[in-house]
Amino acid sequence: MVVKTRFAPSPTGYLHVGGARTALFSWLYARHCGGKFVLRIEDTDRERSTQPAIDAILESMQWLKLTWDEGPYYQTKRFDRYQEVIDQLLAEGKAYKCYCTKERLEKMRADQMARGEKPRYDGHCRDSQAEHSPDEPYVVRFKNPSEGVVAFDDLVKGHIEFANSELDDFIIQRSDGTPTYNFCVVVDDADMGITHVIRGDDHVNNTPKQINLYHALGVPVPVFCHVAMILGDDGTKLSKRHGAVSVMQYREDGYLPEALVNYLVRLGWAHGDQEIFSVPEMIEYFSLDAISKSASSFNTKKLDWLNAHYMKTLPVEEVAAELTWHLKRIGIDPAAGPDPKLVVKCYAERTHTLKEMAQKAACYYQDITAYDPAGVKKWIKEGSVDILQAALEVLTAAPAWEAQPLDEALSELSKRLEVGMGKVGQPLRIALTGSAMSPGIGDTLVLCGRERSLARIAAAIAHFKA
Ligand code: GLU
Repeated sequence: MVVKTRFAPSPTGYLHVGGARTALFSWLYARHCGGKFVLRIEDTDRERSTQPAIDAILESMQWLKLTWDEGPYYQTKRFDRYQEVIDQLLAEGKAYKCYCTKERLEKMRADQMARGEKPRYDGHCRDSQAEHSPDEPYVVRFKNPSEGVVAFDDLVKGHIEFANSELDDFIIQRSDGTPTYNFCVVVDDADMGITHVIRGDDHVNNTPKQINLYHALGVPVPVFCHVAMILGDDGTKLSKRHGAVSVMQYREDGYLPEALVNYLVRLGWAHGDQEIFSVPEMIEYFSLDAISKSASSFNTKKLDWLNAHYMKTLPVEEVAAELTWHLKRIGIDPAAGPDPKLVVKCYAERTHTLKEMAQKAACYYQDITAYDPAGVKKWIKEGSVDILQAALEVLTAAPAWEAQPLDEALSELSKRLEVGMGKVGQPLRIALTGSAMSPGIGDTLVLCGRERSLARIAAAIAHFKA
């Protein structure tokens, strides 16, 4: 059997971390088994589904590198197929048209509640022989078995049983002709050959209805794996209150996709006490039976720690590619300054996120507009202008614009002038970057580039002289 999993988001908003974790688990399981991963957009709710949400989901999946083998399929493009199956179920007597009016249903519900019963459709039209005119509105209901139980062995939750007497003859087609979620999902998963349905445990209660439908259609029932939800660090359901929840917000905040994926895989899944997983390792070790039964809570500190780890350890080109996105995002032309790879080499240890790295590196791509007053107060003293002047001469004469010889030349200068290196380096940093905090002075000069460095030192001399 070829394992086939899917991620089936409803595009009613951005992709949040809970959805991304579901997508990751489905993707990992398919990759672990050498199977296939399908992306399906469940956009039948036309009022709540939007194109920006679809775009955000696709963009997030791509950024996380959760590649799909099939799709994206769109449910709105499959209406003919759903109609075909509805007609088939009607013809086979496995579904029926229900003409009950809203008023009747409301009264039925109120009466059931008054009797202390769980409200459910009473089957009024199920066996009715009443004649109806063709223009009378109706919905199509699935004829749920009235007796027995529906049971399944969930890979996370274990054995689950529901009495059929508890289940409704649920609507599979609304009066406007649109099919409903519980119906489409079964037709799709069956048509697409999905073997393992991995999804959030908010769908557990839908599963028995869906299983009955699989049986009615005479198609194999997939394996179900309902993953517990993600809580915020205060133990309540993760929401916007806890800060970023959308995948793209994490990108904007400067996290690497590798860090977020590594973070997400550990939300509800473990392999011994290992915390850091490369993607090939995740694929190798991932298994559904190691998914935790209990909810997991979000811990931003751990994500920060993973991000710092990946900023330092991923191939520089990969981090630089992400940095380039951030530079452009804050209006910087990456061609107007140093190779972003050099920025990553000099700043990976000095910053926590790529957003911060882009902000710190902006001075190498754009004019500096001000000198940090605290740095100036601390480091620009009497004599600083003379030191800057001497440094300018040394640097103008430097044969090679590389970090090490530049560092050496300035260190010689500090000896010659009999001042500490700080009195040379700090005014230079202020001149070059506007702030007294930057990488090693040789690196800072290289990041700025020869011409820009010399011009900035000259400008600082003029500024501080005045
Ligand atoms: N479209 C459903 C949702 O976004 C998921 C359906 C499923 O995974 O079965 O909640």
